[in-house]
Amino acid sequence: LRSGVEQLGDMIAEASVIVPFTGAGISTESGIPDFRSPGGLWSRNQPIPYDAFVARQDARDEAWRRRFAMQPTFGAARPSRGHRALAALYRAGKIPAVLTQNIDNLHQASGFAEQDVIELHGNTTYARCIGCGRRHELEWVKACWERTHHAPVCTVCDEPVKTATISFGQPMPEEAMQRAAELAQNCDLLLAIGSSLVVWPAAGFPLLAKQSGAKLVIINNEPTDQDQTADLVIRYDIGEILGPFVGN
Ligand code: NAD
Repeated sequence: LRSGVEQLGDMIAEASVIVPFTGAGISTESGIPDFRSPGGLWSRNQPIPYDAFVARQDARDEAWRRRFAMQPTFGAARPSRGHRALAALYRAGKIPAVLTQNIDNLHQASGFAEQDVIELHGNTTYARCIGCGRRHELEWVKACWERTHHAPVCTVCDEPVKTATISFGQPMPEEAMQRAAELAQNCDLLLAIGSSLVVWPAAGFPLLAKQSGAKLVIINNEPTDQDQTADLVIRYDIGEILGPFVGN
């Protein structure tokens, strides 16, 4: 392990453009369960696909019921040592932006500017109308919910309002995908942190970076499908590995 951490330190020191690609594993230390670990969110609930959300009132109601049930968890979450280490490298000018599959807003909370967090799967800390795209705040959704016990519709166009996340079957956000590709193609080190690397197309960015000449480091406490491709695999706890970069 020590040699892995030393290699990581050298690779970070030598790289001039580092792009992190993060998954739910960077936020478990913040108290947000990931999807696929034992006790993760999928052991409790199957995801609601986008088509079902669009088609059925009961699916929309269930989606919002689950979201509000998670509110104490999301509301209390603070950036982990992993988030803070990346924010330190960002402030130092080594990281131009972070690519994330996470929807928890914790990279922003750790000090990344909004425009430098490339959210591949959206954000669950606010909502959008699925018709006109207008942003709605969760407080407003909650107030509607408490009044009617149903998911609300948009005040402008009457279409359903959904968390601003990308569900299975929902089109990927085009601008984020494009920026992610540019960043992956133009970095010299990609750090894949806390992702099982099984959700596509997002999981294609570490490979794209590697194919474009970058080094690839995977930090995850379980094996991933891309371990074979990586220049360095550190199979250990993210906070323990990245904490020392910010002195804890
Ligand atoms: P995932 O659950 O598939 O994989 C997370 C990986 O991180 C697992 O392999 C797990 O072993 C590892 N891990 C967990 N804690 C760790 C730690 N402390 N140190 C090292 N490794 C650790 O998550 P994913 O790859 O991000 O993909 C699933 C989808 O889950 C994404 O689309 C994302 O939108 C969604 N999701 C997001 C959040 C969040 O925003 N925090 C939480 C759950 C799910």
